[in-house]
Amino acid sequence: MKVLVLNAGSSSQKSCLYDLPEDRLPEAPPKPLWEAQIDWPHGTDGAYLKVKSAHLKLEVTLFGASRSEDTARMLETLSSGETQVIAHPGQIDIVGHRVVHGGETYRDSTRITPAVKAAIARLAHFAPVHNPANLAGIEALEAVLGPEVPQIAVFDTAFHSRLPTAAYVYPGPYAWLEAGIRRYGFHGISHRYCAERAAQLLGRDLEQLRLITCHLGNGCSLAAVQAGFSIDTTMGFTPLEGLMMGSRSGSVDPGILIHLLRQGDCSVDKLDHLLNQASGLEGISGISNDLRLIFEAIEAGHARARLALDIYLHRLRAGIGAMAANLGGLDALVFTAGVGENAAPVRAGACEGLEFLGIAIDHHKNNDRPKDTDIATAAAAVRVLVIHTQEDWAIARECWQHLRR
Ligand code: ADP
Repeated sequence: MKVLVLNAGSSSQKSCLYDLPEDRLPEAPPKPLWEAQIDWPHGTDGAYLKVKSAHLKLEVTLFGASRSEDTARMLETLSSGETQVIAHPGQIDIVGHRVVHGGETYRDSTRITPAVKAAIARLAHFAPVHNPANLAGIEALEAVLGPEVPQIAVFDTAFHSRLPTAAYVYPGPYAWLEAGIRRYGFHGISHRYCAERAAQLLGRDLEQLRLITCHLGNGCSLAAVQAGFSIDTTMGFTPLEGLMMGSRSGSVDPGILIHLLRQGDCSVDKLDHLLNQASGLEGISGISNDLRLIFEAIEAGHARARLALDIYLHRLRAGIGAMAANLGGLDALVFTAGVGENAAPVRAGACEGLEFLGIAIDHHKNNDRPKDTDIATAAAAVRVLVIHTQEDWAIARECWQHLRR
């Protein structure tokens, strides 16, 4: 079964093709046959396509008139003489799309129909950057492959769709809730994958586990997972709430926003920019949103870089503590995504001070580039796992299950 996975963002589109056996899903994620990325840099006409397969690495500039044309060119590389991953794009059995916002309607992955597309477009109201890009990806694939090839939407909000009411209703006026202003939560594909993988690595039944999954990339969020469902999460109505992130502030006192708006020199767009692009590690350090550069600056004695990391860790620990309280205890803490998987000092710093929860990490294991492994000390009450998140694979699995059904 050939499964194409597409993750379409505002200025880039990542895709990969899996070849999966018909009868049963492999336990460990297989390597995709082919991976491609198109970048549409702002302010330029061209697009850049990178393709990787067993036989080929390709980088070319595209000059298509539209996303569909660039996507068609990308799909041609699947069957071109150089790659020959498949004989022709018609061999693709199903396509899975990451869709950021599924609102209150979509609790599970869904076959894309005109009604689902209309809902994704409607929800762009809540996710103005992501949902239109996701829809453009769906339409580009539809244009190339035709309507017969099933396309599945896998929503980033779905894993959090069973949050208890008290966790998703904001304590503002009740009318907010009626207007759809509530906590939705994001990164759900990753949180769910990590929760399932954690149960697999621990050899335990997910139903019996209380987990905190820490997705720490450019965007950062925590999920409290009980019996396989997210029961609390730090991101909210938008991906801006919660932890301090690369360039996003995370939670700040809303009174600050009222103060800035009252002063009169801050428009809504400027506020949006400040909170989403000029805050977090970047805003405090004045250096970068990339933690690797923050570490370098700390080594060189840069005080604001040190402060940025201190705030990041302070808020991460506080978030983990809050999630543990709502779970009523903890079996495993999971670190994933760019920072969570690679930054040993962040894992160590987050766990420091959480010994009272039964968390203690083995520093040798923590520093030994762990991947899908337990880094807790043998005696600790709580397991601490580092898991390589595989969102594409999680989407491919949903597609496989859909076709099997
Ligand atoms: P995204 O959230 O955009 O999907 P990732 O999950 O790939 O991104 O995370 C990207 C971030 O991971 C980078 O900005 C950087 O801060 C961090 N990162 C990646 N590798 C390392 C590393 N070796 N050490 C520290 N941080 C890292």
